[in-house]
Amino acid sequence: MTDIRHIRTFIFDLDNTLYHPRTGLMDQMHTLIGLYIMRFMGVDAAMADQIRRRYWQKYGTTMAGLVAEHGVDPHQFMEFVHNIDLSEVNPCARTRELLAALPGRRVIFTNADHRHAERMLTHLGIADLFEEVYDVTRVGFTPKPALQSYEKVLGWLGEEGQHCAMLEDSLENLRPAHALGMTTIWVTDAQEDHPFVHYRTPDVLTWLEGVSTHEHGNRTGHEPREDEDPQGRRHPA
Ligand SMILES: [Mg+2]
Repeated sequence: MTDIRHIRTFIFDLDNTLYHPRTGLMDQMHTLIGLYIMRFMGVDAAMADQIRRRYWQKYGTTMAGLVAEHGVDPHQFMEFVHNIDLSEVNPCARTRELLAALPGRRVIFTNADHRHAERMLTHLGIADLFEEVYDVTRVGFTPKPALQSYEKVLGWLGEEGQHCAMLEDSLENLRPAHALGMTTIWVTDAQEDHPFVHYRTPDVLTWLEGVSTHEHGNRTGHEPREDEDPQGRRHPA
């Protein structure tokens, strides 16, 4: 259960974090990325898949690799690959209710672009709950996990890392968050521990249920310990 008493700002990744990977949306997007590479570079599907993975590993996103090595127009690329069918993703009223109850600011920090983010958040029925969407265009197409993009986001928020929590499904994207003092929550089915991951949860709803229990009178009997807050960090409420 995540201790959020010192958290003032909750930073959420979007894709595969605010909805489950089993929806297959990212598979749709990977297919479109492959198609884009096939058309743009005149290669077959297998080669396109290799290129996609190589750039993703080297640059954080395929797009960053295509921009750096081939001068691809990132806006055109984004428009092409986000033309996906959202019907497998279902809005969740309980998630909305608990997100709204989080005591602090809520923002999105995504490697997708703002059009996709707004479309997805609207589809999920939670667009109004986030005060800002920091998309990849706002950080100069320098995607997570580039440390400077996290620093930009903190600067815009006027916030210190230790007062932020970050929820992410991509493990590597939590490393810089931790380095900047954030509380890190890995949204995953994996069972492995990492020094830069404070908490793990199978999905955001499960995490929110835990936080909600903590905040609203210990239905599970968890008592916040006084010694959890040795530096006198303030309660977010
Ligand atoms: Mg993600």
